[in-house]
Amino acid sequence: EERMIQGVPLEGEEEELSLRPQALSHYIGQTKAKENLAIFIKAAKMREEPLDHVLLYGPPGLGKTTLAHIIANEMGVAFRTTSGPAIEKAGDLAAILSSLEAGDVLFIDEIHRLPRAVEEILYPAMEDFCLDIVIGTGSTARSVRLDLPPFTLVGATTRAGLLTAPLRDRFGVLSRLEYYDAAALTEIIIRSADVFRVGINTQAAIEIAKRSRGTPRIANRLLKRVRDISQVRGETEISKVTTELALDMLQVDKIGLDHIDHKLLLAILDQFGGGPVGLDTLSATIGEESQTIEDVYEPFLLQKGFIQRTPRGRVATDQTYKHFKRPLPGNEQI
Ligand code: ADP
Repeated sequence: EERMIQGVPLEGEEEELSLRPQALSHYIGQTKAKENLAIFIKAAKMREEPLDHVLLYGPPGLGKTTLAHIIANEMGVAFRTTSGPAIEKAGDLAAILSSLEAGDVLFIDEIHRLPRAVEEILYPAMEDFCLDIVIGTGSTARSVRLDLPPFTLVGATTRAGLLTAPLRDRFGVLSRLEYYDAAALTEIIIRSADVFRVGINTQAAIEIAKRSRGTPRIANRLLKRVRDISQVRGETEISKVTTELALDMLQVDKIGLDHIDHKLLLAILDQFGGGPVGLDTLSATIGEESQTIEDVYEPFLLQKGFIQRTPRGRVATDQTYKHFKRPLPGNEQI
C-alpha cells in the first residue's frame, strides 16, 4: 500500500530537478554534514585533488542524492550515477569505472545492495585507483592491473551498519543525515513553493512542515497536493485553512501520522490495553506483515516515542494515550 507519508518515492512520482538545490549554501538544514563537507571540499580544491570518498547515510528522502549532486557541483566535476541493485556483474562496474574522467563523482545509491563480487572490484578502485581484472580462463588465466583516473565515490545507504566493514572502511568521510526540524522544513517548503511559482502563507508552510515527518521528500509531496486543492479553491496564495483541509483529506494528521499508524497504535491501545503485545500478534491483528511493521511502520513511531520495544513486546507510551485523547491506564474516569 502506498502512503503519502513514506520517505521513498511513490510509484511513478516525478521529482522536479528544479526542486533540488544546486549549491551547498542553498542546501537547507543538515548543518553538521554541510560544515564538514564544506571543509573537505575546500581542502581538496586547495590541493587540487579529488575529494575523498564520501558515505552518506540516513533514512530515505532526507537529501542524500541531492547532496551528492552538490558535491560534484562544488568540486566542478561531472556527476555519474548508478545504484547497488542496478549493477549485477563485476564487468558492469568495471565498465563504469573505466569510463570515468579524472575527478568525477560516481554516485552509487543503495550501495549496500551491491553483489559481493561487484563490491570486491571497488576495494582496489577506491584505495589505489586501479582495476584488477582476470583475462582468460583456467590455466591461461592471468590477472592484469589497469589504472583508473582518480575519482570520488559517493555512496548512499539508509544505515552505515548495512555495509560490510571492508567497504565502509574505504570511505574517508562518513556523514549521517538527520531528520529535519520544522523550521528547516518550513524553509524548504517556502523555497519549493517559489520554484512552483505559487504563494504560500507562512502558517500554511509551518502546518505542512509539522506533518512531513522530518523529511523533505514528504514535504514537497504534501505541498504539491495542497497546492492543487488551493488552486481549485481559487486562492491566490495557499492558505492555512486550505492546507489543513487538504491534509485532513489526505488523512495525514497534525503530526504526520496516517491511517496505518493510527490502526497500529489504536490496536495496541484498544485491543491490548496499551501492551505489551508481541510483533506477530500485532501483525495478525492489523493484517500487516511483521517485517513491514518492523521496517516501515515502526521506525518513525519509535523515534517519536509513540511505542517502546520491550522484551515482552510493543508498548504504547503516555504520549500515545494523549495523542488519541484516551485516559491514561489507572486514571480512567467512571
Ligand atoms: P534521498 O537521496 O536521501 O532519498 P533526495 O536527495 O532524493 O533524498 O531528496 C528528496 C527530495 O527532497 C529532493 O527532490 C529535494 O528536492 C528535496 N531535498 C532534500 N534535501 C533538501 C534540502 N536540504 N534542501 C532542499 N530540498 C531538499
